[in-house]
Amino acid sequence: MKWFHLIRRWRRWRATRLPFPNEWNEILNKNFPLDRTLSQEDRHRLRYLIQIFLYEKNIRGLNGLAITDEIRVTVAAQACLLLLHLDEDDFPNLYSVLIYPTAYEASHTEYLEGGLIRESRDLRLGETSKRGAVLLSWQDAKYGAADIHDGQNVVLHEFAHQLDLENNVADGAPLLPRRSMYLAWARVFSKAYSELQKDIEHHHKHVMSAYGATNAAEFFAVATETFFEKPLALKNQHFELYEQLRLFYRQDPAKRARNIDRKS
Ligand SMILES: [Zn+2]
Repeated sequence: MKWFHLIRRWRRWRATRLPFPNEWNEILNKNFPLDRTLSQEDRHRLRYLIQIFLYEKNIRGLNGLAITDEIRVTVAAQACLLLLHLDEDDFPNLYSVLIYPTAYEASHTEYLEGGLIRESRDLRLGETSKRGAVLLSWQDAKYGAADIHDGQNVVLHEFAHQLDLENNVADGAPLLPRRSMYLAWARVFSKAYSELQKDIEHHHKHVMSAYGATNAAEFFAVATETFFEKPLALKNQHFELYEQLRLFYRQDPAKRARNIDRKS
């Protein structure tokens, strides 16, 4: 539909017509050290994506959290890192990002056999809703941005779920650019998933967090966190998985990590 593309182009123009504010650069500098590992071109692209994200998404604070530019830019930067080399410059199904000051309690309903219902409450750092919202704990989003080597990042995790949901099912497979990629993706991911389950069962160490063994969707989200934050270990220990993620995201964080080692 032509008019749709025109409106989209107009919105993109509105979002990016002003230069990236200096204060936002300072926030990135202070809160998001990964930015410094990117090429000049990628840093430029990241800022373009952040401007679109902050123009289009509704970001609201919950439990009394007042939304500041620091919160907006720190969250947007991590979310947009995933989009850096993808064809799309947006999370099309996402409308709102709702942010709690810290980890929050949420109730969970399980429907058991025989019509029984089990209600439980748990503490969460973030979640993705199918209805176009991502929920986050600001404390954990900030911590995730500051430590780029611990393999844990709630923003990367929840926005990986958003990519997974773009085909409307949370099945651990986002929309791949070529149909021919699905076969290799399925083969590599199912093998890696069962390896993670086995390692946990035998109490062996694994570069990915055990939460990835919950189901296929969590596996993709946790694999994404590991890909960006522990790329060298993932590449060394699970080369095929690393390669699938590299082909999908069209980024090579292991190469970036090696360049930093060389510089320092
Ligand atoms: Zn998850």
